[in-house]
Amino acid sequence: MKLIIAEKPSLARNIAAAIGNAKKANGYIVCDGYIVTWAFGHLFSLCDIEDYTGKETVPGAPRKWSMEGLPCYPETFRFALRKGENGLVDDGVRQQFETIKALAHREDVDTVINAGDADREGEIIVRICIMNAFGNNTGTGKLDAGGRQLKRLWLPDQTPETVRSALADLKDEADYENLAGEGFARTYIDWLYGVNLTRFATIKTGRLLRVGRVIVPIVKAIYDRDMAIRYFKPEKYFGIVSQEETGGYVVPLTSKLKIPGDEKAKAEAVCARYNAEKAFVTAKKTKKDTLKPGKLYSLSKLQNVLGKKYKMPMEKSLEIVQKLYEQGYLTYPRTNSEYLASAEKDKVKKVLGVVAKLGYDVAFRDDKNIFDDSKIESHSAITPTYIIPDKTKLTPDELTVYSTVMRRFAAVFCREPCLANRTEITVSVGKLEDFVLKGTVIVQKGWMKYDDASTGEKILPPLEKGDEVNINFKPVEKETTPPKHYTIETLNNYLKNPFREEKAKAAENDAQPAQDDGYGTDDAEEYRMILEGLELGTEATRTGIINNAIKSKYIDLKKDVYSILPDGEFLIESLVAMKISMDKHKTSELGRVLKRIFHGEMQIGRGIELAEQQITEVFEGAKAVAAPETDTDFGSVGDVVGKCPVCGKDVVRTFFGYGCTGFRNSGCKFSVSMIICRRVISKANVKMLLETGKTSKITGFTSKNGKTFDAFLKLSDDKTKAVFDFDR
Ligand SMILES: [Zn+2]
Repeated sequence: MKLIIAEKPSLARNIAAAIGNAKKANGYIVCDGYIVTWAFGHLFSLCDIEDYTGKETVPGAPRKWSMEGLPCYPETFRFALRKGENGLVDDGVRQQFETIKALAHREDVDTVINAGDADREGEIIVRICIMNAFGNNTGTGKLDAGGRQLKRLWLPDQTPETVRSALADLKDEADYENLAGEGFARTYIDWLYGVNLTRFATIKTGRLLRVGRVIVPIVKAIYDRDMAIRYFKPEKYFGIVSQEETGGYVVPLTSKLKIPGDEKAKAEAVCARYNAEKAFVTAKKTKKDTLKPGKLYSLSKLQNVLGKKYKMPMEKSLEIVQKLYEQGYLTYPRTNSEYLASAEKDKVKKVLGVVAKLGYDVAFRDDKNIFDDSKIESHSAITPTYIIPDKTKLTPDELTVYSTVMRRFAAVFCREPCLANRTEITVSVGKLEDFVLKGTVIVQKGWMKYDDASTGEKILPPLEKGDEVNINFKPVEKETTPPKHYTIETLNNYLKNPFREEKAKAAENDAQPAQDDGYGTDDAEEYRMILEGLELGTEATRTGIINNAIKSKYIDLKKDVYSILPDGEFLIESLVAMKISMDKHKTSELGRVLKRIFHGEMQIGRGIELAEQQITEVFEGAKAVAAPETDTDFGSVGDVVGKCPVCGKDVVRTFFGYGCTGFRNSGCKFSVSMIICRRVISKANVKMLLETGKTSKITGFTSKNGKTFDAFLKLSDDKTKAVFDFDR
């Protein structure tokens, strides 16, 4: 018998159904020649700090965290059965693992097959089960299943045909050592960061702060953008614009010049100078063009479109696309590629045959814009499979997701090309300035029958070369606009390529219609970033991490727009105050380490060393803060800080800062905010304020103009709050 361990029950059912003759048992399914069992995703997790330090704890009892033993770098990482919210192992988890273990040890089982999802997480989820079933819980030793053969079932989709052909072509589990190495390294590094820094920051601030390698740069990006908006000061300027009619058509001409808002006379003089000239059409070019459809979808590009068009949150779109995959309708969804593998051509031909029967005008096409092995890491773009769902059985949201994928697939393989005329007219105003008007007219729809066109079709006035154009330039008062909040789409684009922010911003401010179909853009750069691991998070993890940030109330998602919440401001600002630097550079540096492990260019141990080195630097940086140690102690909620200068009752640390306990009875209004001008205020400084009426000099405030400054805080005249004191 061969034992297949699937990552999830749904996958186990699909595998068993494909094999046939399935008979259900308790915790597994028996079919022809195979036993199929399953995990529930992660059955194991890494042990807690206390398990390494050997401190006695009562199972299930809340643990009091202390600075002692931080940072903790385990010599060898150990796994244990995953614990629930209550700190205890769930009975179902324990029982399922016992089932897996018993099956793996059966005399008649000669082969154990890893059927984790086809990615690094899936690889180690099942691998850790196999290791533990044979008494190894450290994750660094060689896999040994008591002499049994170890194989890997690698499934790009869950259709019966794919399951059967993958079973006939089982891979050796040993071929996936590097992928597992990347998975283990990711788990260990994220543990080192998350556990050590979460405890450190939580103890220091007295408030639970979830610090992680990827979550912090994500929250920071949203924080930075929102602060830029909050402190934005619009500037007035004059634009130079003509809107005159020529031959019955308005010809809009907008000069590149911007004249400061307080120089109206100058703006008028410029207009007079322009209007003294004659304007002529000096060039006209019309080009027939074939417009290319957008590329097939990667997960985040699909989530971008669903977020932008249907306001569907990422958590929801991932859940649906995962479900459609588990039902066999779509290929593996957690992919970062928009391309197909050349080995998939026959499979695609078969799917196209089925899609054509549905009435789509499609035909197979071999094209480097579709099939490109160099832009695929382990998974191809998301496409439909040959199994077409019954539309009446899908929910409206499921139908939206499925047909978005289907329409893009049909557009990419559309038989008829999309033809357009592109025209450019140059109007020259004397020798002062050339204005270029651009327009596109679609002549034949082609793939646009199925997919949205974002080409900004625009009709131009029928001007010819040599025509005179009427002009009358006037100064138009305008205002600079603040940057825009991150949306699902713009945040995803930032995370995929965090070092191209400036470029992306420039594109956003451009008045041209957005072109998310990708034609004409060079994406070599983007794929280089992904393949080298420079992106923040991966397609497989990003949705979960963003969702955690939302659940932790660090950020908010309304429609498809993200914004920072007070807790997120506190997280970022207190990390800055503690000199804990976890920027995108550090995160992507480790992302690159993971890729090098995947490519066999680095040992796991070396990767972990690099992470530990970074964490040590963070701890040392936090300890060696230039400000006195007392400046980074924020106490815990409930700590008594001193006596109220108004009523004499105790002042305590509250959730939002420091406040008088007399508030409830006498309505005393004394309070000091936790954050003043983007600076976290320490307990010691509030104590000093209460005792002497003034704090020590506090560095690093940020004004509304974005300027940093140092100042003392003193009691206000009525003593109910703290105000700035710049004296000494
Ligand atoms: Zn009071």
